[in-house]
Amino acid sequence: MSWKDNTRKVTPYVPGEQPKAGDVVKLNTNENPYPPAPGVADALRKLADDYAIMRKYPDTNATSLVDALSEFYNVPSDNIFVGVGSDDVLAMSFLTFFDSDRPVLFPDITYSFYEVWAETFRIPYKTVALKDDFTIDIKDYEQLNGGVVIANPNAPTSICLDIDSVEKIISSNKDSVVIIDEAYIDFGGVSALPLIDKYDNLLVVQTFSKSRSMAGARIGVAFGSPDIIASLKAVKFSINSYTMSHDSIRIGAAAASLNDRSYFTETVDRIINTRTEATRRLTEMGFEVLESSTNFLFAKHKTHKAVDIFNGLRDQNIYVRYFDKPRINDHLRITIGTPEEMDKLYSALEEILNR
Ligand SMILES: *Cc1c(COP(=O)(O)O)cnc(C)c1O
Repeated sequence: MSWKDNTRKVTPYVPGEQPKAGDVVKLNTNENPYPPAPGVADALRKLADDYAIMRKYPDTNATSLVDALSEFYNVPSDNIFVGVGSDDVLAMSFLTFFDSDRPVLFPDITYSFYEVWAETFRIPYKTVALKDDFTIDIKDYEQLNGGVVIANPNAPTSICLDIDSVEKIISSNKDSVVIIDEAYIDFGGVSALPLIDKYDNLLVVQTFSKSRSMAGARIGVAFGSPDIIASLKAVKFSINSYTMSHDSIRIGAAAASLNDRSYFTETVDRIINTRTEATRRLTEMGFEVLESSTNFLFAKHKTHKAVDIFNGLRDQNIYVRYFDKPRINDHLRITIGTPEEMDKLYSALEEILNR
């Protein structure tokens, strides 16, 4: 007998590399290439003046962030839950809503953290194969289950499911909680957010990490019926009430981002334009590129192996994401960077493909 027999064994989620070297083109973790809204800098400067507040515990409800979200999305505050990135929000949601003997359903190709949380919390789950074209067949979600999780748009496929199909999944699973993870929704597709008034089993999760350029601030949000949000808060406050830092830190910065709608629209539009151009350029170079509703492309080359392209790019300090997994090991996931970063990618690809 050893302490090791009493230790929870988990295989952790592996995020994309964060290379230390200075001169890299980093297109591997779906970060936004543009800085956050300028008001965020003002909020951080104010923090220096207010630094003495650090001696106190923060507001557990992160009221000023919730109020800013309430105003931005036109949703009452009791429909809103915030956490330390959507990873925290999703982990809390798995723990709260998936306490059943029946399996939780999610696609076989999706955000790989879902499987890790299910394993960690010992939640029974069943992966459902996407169709060959990587789209979802909504009939697959009409079987008995203990919950459903759908990333929409999906990652790493970049494909968005239409809102009517999303609603059918929610309405055909009224006895389970359906989580729609909308990490990329601002880049395309229709949000399920308005459906929270109609379905009390729906939880819509979003993040400041992608479209708002604030991955480092760790801010995630969930929207749902007051009942579903109250359940989520009860579990969160049974683990650690103080995960969100003071208003003047994370929360002030987030509110500043929400308040600048034109900067948000402008940077999202810029990424969408670069995405259109990138799709065209990669297609010309012999890639098959899936139609993206996100800030990344999922592409497969007609003749060259994905792993070889991945390594060739890495040798030139250009990082994209390669998944050594069944069904997708012939694909690369490429985050949309600035036009200048993308130019470096195109030149490197041309050189690698012509070797
Ligand atoms: C990036 C991402 C997340 C996590 O985002 P954070 O808010 O940074 O924790 C969640 N789900 C999907 C599908 C993502 O791509």
